[in-house]
Amino acid sequence: MHRYKKKLGQHFLQDANIARKIIELAALTEGEPVFEIGPGNGFLTAFLLRASIRVTAVEMDAELLPGLRDRFVTGGGHGLNLVHGDVLKLDLEREFENIVQRHGKICVVANIPYQITTPIIFMLIRHHHLFSRAVLMMQAEVADRLLAGPGSKSYGRLSIMTSLFCRVHSGFSVSPGCFYPQPRVWSKVVMLSFLSRPSCQVADVVWLGDLVQRLFSQRRKKIINPLTDWRLNLERFQIEDLLRQNGFSPDCRAETMSVGEFCRLSNLLRQYR
Ligand code: SAH
Repeated sequence: MHRYKKKLGQHFLQDANIARKIIELAALTEGEPVFEIGPGNGFLTAFLLRASIRVTAVEMDAELLPGLRDRFVTGGGHGLNLVHGDVLKLDLEREFENIVQRHGKICVVANIPYQITTPIIFMLIRHHHLFSRAVLMMQAEVADRLLAGPGSKSYGRLSIMTSLFCRVHSGFSVSPGCFYPQPRVWSKVVMLSFLSRPSCQVADVVWLGDLVQRLFSQRRKKIINPLTDWRLNLERFQIEDLLRQNGFSPDCRAETMSVGEFCRLSNLLRQYR
């Protein structure tokens, strides 16, 4: 009997209807390569292997591997490539370069470990050229941040960086009762479709991320405050002038700025680091 590891975010899906809806949303074609993060006991994996002949799954919990191997790998021919390890430490380029070259971009489909949802999304974005889309089950609170726009209280760094590289589609909500053991929160399935180029022109993505983080550290304050005494070689009055000259109000607030405005501001301030 498997002991569930809270630390690893183990909440195993046990509702076949939900699994079918996830597969439907992903709309996989037979030869399309799939990447599953955290297959657990293989509930979703079984559905994936019916939809695609090419599934790579990475699972960190060594205790789950024999079960997964017995079920899907031994005997061969099932098309599952099972990898043991931490998804955040996986060399995605090495793992997927050949597959992408031969079979096209990868579709990520997963009920991911909730304690690392944000790092997983940032990791996928960093390697967005490998992926066509990602259908992810996550805690509703993070899904809402992905879907949020300016003015919403869920709007922040995650919303901005995601919408720069993906179109975000809201899927459906999933109640705690669909899992064992049950999570404390509701979940949502979201699909990220990776864009072939960023939705706005941005000169330096890392710098943009730092700027966005800085501005949202004081999300309700006028942007002039978090910009003062930061990493710019400018005095407060110089920043004010620069903002005005470029059509930004020093009095505007991060939570109301659009992705395009963040990109334009980041391209402008980059010259004064
Ligand atoms: N997909 C399965 C299990 C979801 S629970 C299902 O729907 O039933 C999350 C799974 O991710 C668990 O199996 C857990 O062991 C695994 N996991 C947690 N952290 C991980 C990490 N850093 N890398 C890879 N797998 C991880």
